[in-house]
Amino acid sequence: NLILSFETSCDETSVAVIENGDTILSNIVATQIKSHQRFGGVVPEVASRHHIEQITGCIEDALARANVTYDDLSAVAVTYGPGLVGALLIGVTAAKAVAWAHQLPLIPVNHLAGHIYAARLVEPIEFPAMALVVSGGHTELVYMPVENRFEIIGETRDDAAGEAYDKIGRVLGINYPAGKQVDEMAHQGRDTFHFPRAMDQDANFDFSFSGLKSAFINTVHHADQIHETLNKNDLAASFQQAVVDVLADKTVRALHEYPVKQLIVGGGVAANKGLRERLGKELQAFPQTTLELVPLSLCGDNAAMIGAAGEMLYRHQVFTDATLNADPGLEFDWLGDSPVK
Ligand code: ATP
Ligand code: MG
Ligand code: FE
Repeated sequence: NLILSFETSCDETSVAVIENGDTILSNIVATQIKSHQRFGGVVPEVASRHHIEQITGCIEDALARANVTYDDLSAVAVTYGPGLVGALLIGVTAAKAVAWAHQLPLIPVNHLAGHIYAARLVEPIEFPAMALVVSGGHTELVYMPVENRFEIIGETRDDAAGEAYDKIGRVLGINYPAGKQVDEMAHQGRDTFHFPRAMDQDANFDFSFSGLKSAFINTVHHADQIHETLNKNDLAASFQQAVVDVLADKTVRALHEYPVKQLIVGGGVAANKGLRERLGKELQAFPQTTLELVPLSLCGDNAAMIGAAGEMLYRHQVFTDATLNADPGLEFDWLGDSPVK
């Protein structure tokens, strides 16, 4: 089957054509980062306007690059949440229009299921599986006992990991989104500051990054006040070590409690070199579990991952219709029981 998929939940306009849920025929990603950088973050109105301007061209490019026409398609899949409501609406409206005009089934996809299913574009997912989703808006451990069932066993109580990277990056004078550059700086520095690892020893799977962020910002401001210059690479390394320690420790704890065949790591922060290296080491203690790190090119937002998740839902006949609305706060429990059918 061939699925045309849409992703517009944040600041990437993306349209893809996916074959049988695991093969990318095309994956067009139009990023708007430059337009948001001078504001230090994503401006919702600016994002919506960009999506409107880009979406038609992205559809045409996706079909042309895949060398297919509308007649070849089996279905249309679209991210309907979570994300920015005005941004989501552009993708949802475009997907509905294409589905209606070409009489194709419409598949509603949760953006986070997409981040997880990006792994399927490399290897089939084997169940039971665990996913660590680390992105700009989310930090979650998701247990998947069988296909199309997602149970959140732990999540952040405050900031997401990517959000913390972007906020401390701003203090270091780095453009939004800061994650990649902080990651690079961290590899040139050492953990000399020993920032707090919140909730690390707690017997649950939840995370908290706002205390770490505050500790970081206070350290830098205090140094500024007494005109002391701190080593930025060491600051980055200390921050990253704290984030990676907590993410890795909680994930290991989850793997002990939920033995799984695969650990999938997805979302923008899954591109983090420090995290990838650390999880590689930790997984040596779990010979039954294979580590599926989403490839760097598919960690950030893209429509290919939405097509991969959409194809799974297609096989489970999870379809919607023209009444589909954007759901900015979409929760992510058991998609199989989703009210959207
Ligand atoms: P969500 O998926 O929760 O809705 P989002 O779609 O905005 O949020 P993504 O696009 O998946 O988030 O990820 C973007 C985030 O990833 C940014 O916060 C960015 O700083 C972070 N990021 C990207 N590369 C790295 C890296 N190498 N190390 C750490 N963070 C990174
Ligand atoms: Mg993004
Ligand atoms: Fe995302």
